[in-house]
Amino acid sequence: MSLKLELDQIKGFFAPDERLASFFPKYEYRSEQQKMAMKITDVFKQKKHLLIEAGTGTGKSLAYLVPSIFSSLVEEQKIIISTNTINLQEQLINKDIPLLQEVFELDFKAVLVKGRRNYVCLRRLIQYEKHAQLAAGKYDKLAKINQWILKTETGCRSDLDFKVGFELWEQISSKSELCLRANCPYYEQCHFIFARREIEEADLLIVNHHLLFADLALRKEQDLEEQTAVLPSYKKVVFDEAHNIEEVATSYLGLKLSKEGIIKFLQSLYNFEEGIGVLLQLRLVSSKLKDKLKQRFQKRIDNDLVPLVRKLTDRVHSLFNQLIKFSEDNFKEYKVRLTEEVRNEKLWKEVIKIEVENFLLDLSSLRQGMEEIFEELTLAEDELENFEVLAVELAAKIEFCTKINQTIGEIINTPQPDYVYWLEPKADNCSLCSAPLDISKELEVNLLEKMDSIIFTSATLTVDNSFDFISKNLGLQNFTVDTLKVGSPFDYRNQLQAGVIKDLPNPKHESFVKEVVGAIKNIVQIREGNSLVLFTSYWMLNQVYQELLEELEQLKINNLYCQGMKSRHQLIEDFKANQRSLLLGTASFWEGVDIPGKQLSCVLIVKLPFLVPTDPVIAAKIEDIENNGQNAFFNYMLPKAVIKFRQGIGRLIRSKEDQGWVIILDNRVVSKSYGNIFLKSFPSDSQIVIDKLNLLTDKLINRN
Ligand code: SF4
Repeated sequence: MSLKLELDQIKGFFAPDERLASFFPKYEYRSEQQKMAMKITDVFKQKKHLLIEAGTGTGKSLAYLVPSIFSSLVEEQKIIISTNTINLQEQLINKDIPLLQEVFELDFKAVLVKGRRNYVCLRRLIQYEKHAQLAAGKYDKLAKINQWILKTETGCRSDLDFKVGFELWEQISSKSELCLRANCPYYEQCHFIFARREIEEADLLIVNHHLLFADLALRKEQDLEEQTAVLPSYKKVVFDEAHNIEEVATSYLGLKLSKEGIIKFLQSLYNFEEGIGVLLQLRLVSSKLKDKLKQRFQKRIDNDLVPLVRKLTDRVHSLFNQLIKFSEDNFKEYKVRLTEEVRNEKLWKEVIKIEVENFLLDLSSLRQGMEEIFEELTLAEDELENFEVLAVELAAKIEFCTKINQTIGEIINTPQPDYVYWLEPKADNCSLCSAPLDISKELEVNLLEKMDSIIFTSATLTVDNSFDFISKNLGLQNFTVDTLKVGSPFDYRNQLQAGVIKDLPNPKHESFVKEVVGAIKNIVQIREGNSLVLFTSYWMLNQVYQELLEELEQLKINNLYCQGMKSRHQLIEDFKANQRSLLLGTASFWEGVDIPGKQLSCVLIVKLPFLVPTDPVIAAKIEDIENNGQNAFFNYMLPKAVIKFRQGIGRLIRSKEDQGWVIILDNRVVSKSYGNIFLKSFPSDSQIVIDKLNLLTDKLINRN
């Protein structure tokens, strides 16, 4: 096949009797898919950005992969495909791309890029085995890991067929700040280095949004343009599941530091229980130094640094215990937003600030002590056989001290005006967190201005048929951005029936839960399970779960699956495998659940998915929008809820054969003026019945 990036060629590829069709006896031509692929081709050629909403069933992955492959090969430039979920990445790399490799007679390479910490570091593994004084259980685990190392091709954690806990993996995984690179004795066998070589050779890189933001952050920090940061350089990005970008970017661009994290850091310097730690290693190797130097070195470690580690450990416990107490005594919410008012509380000003000051002072002494040791170490370089390893470990620890100092310093002492700060106490642990209020500026400067083309796609980008919200949200208003909406090839008129129960109380009413439980029982009994119930809170999900559990037989349900019982993936697999099942889920179940067939023929939406207004990030965003003279409900809360709602609806019809009901139990869609926007979110030709519960259930009995 000759290489061109021409509209006709892309059009022909998807045509009814052309290239793709010739590979499938049952090929279904989808004009929406063809239109999408052509639009992306055009945008790539013109170096523009594009927002494209493609309904379920469009086959959007092939629609962006084909022009991406052509563009990458013609222009000899890598293209990044970024998704939010691992499921979609696996679908692309295991199904769609191998298919296209077969269809095209073209030599192209696509690689799924994983974050560095997914890979084992052979050097750290060997070092850990050598130095750690381990309990018997851990020896067994290490023995298994050693067996696995001999046969794994990827060295990736996901390749393990047994469980390795987070703590152990932390000790043996690859980390940029601890990598010796070409000076590493295991460089040639290193799985991570091998994976990075594959990436250099690839045309298409499949990543998740997080990894892409990590790359952008490193590029910004180190002012990199053409060079490799986390990823090699690129000029075109396709964001699939683009409706999630705001959440991912907000969490990525924020800070988070926990008590547990600092304690672990201090233990990595000196772990008294396991007998490991950088300071211990330093002490050990210093025995090879000349007498005078050795004494000075060891004295420094024994008399200054080790006592400082102990003191700081006590200080961390004391400081974070005060923070936990402060939260418990003063606030009902799980997350405590650090507003001006909170920062003016007596305990905050008179106790916590003092604790922080003392902690930072000792931390600074520790960092200074380690810096001095580092200098001495460098002077004795020739006398130490393991110099490089120690130097890299010590430098990483010094760097981490700086990070802790900056994070705590900013969150407690010097909050920035465009950020929101909060505490997250959880049992014995507590985290200090921050997030930017608006990610659009970051995206503008670090992404939109630098790329030739960015494609943002998802099944849910519009609100009330407009791209305005997403465009503003992602900072696209100052750029020339094309938009396109392609519908779904599904026959929603005959496949999807929507129902709204209008006689249930308002969700704020005290009888709402009781009435909802009754309605769910009614409906699932008629449907004999085969339903997904979407909640907006765990509390309500648990209430309903307990009530249903007692009546499964009466309700004709064989299996009741509830979020939290097993992993999300396992719950979905179990639900798929068993008829007459009911699945209850909150947040993550509103999207990415793909269950075609009769197993899922009814989706119940208990409440409209508005964000929780008391969540610190949401509360601060609302305040910020209101301060700018806008109505936060109509400009933020409502559009976000509509996008989530549309995702929820989208769980039902996954193939041309699917049929079923989406039932809304929140009567605000009919009682409130904004409700109409939710109703208009149903595919345009689907039928909507608004009725009382008993009349709606009659219809459910009569029309499946
Ligand atoms: S090259 Fe880096 S990641 Fe690989 S084994 Fe060596 S230190 Fe570990």
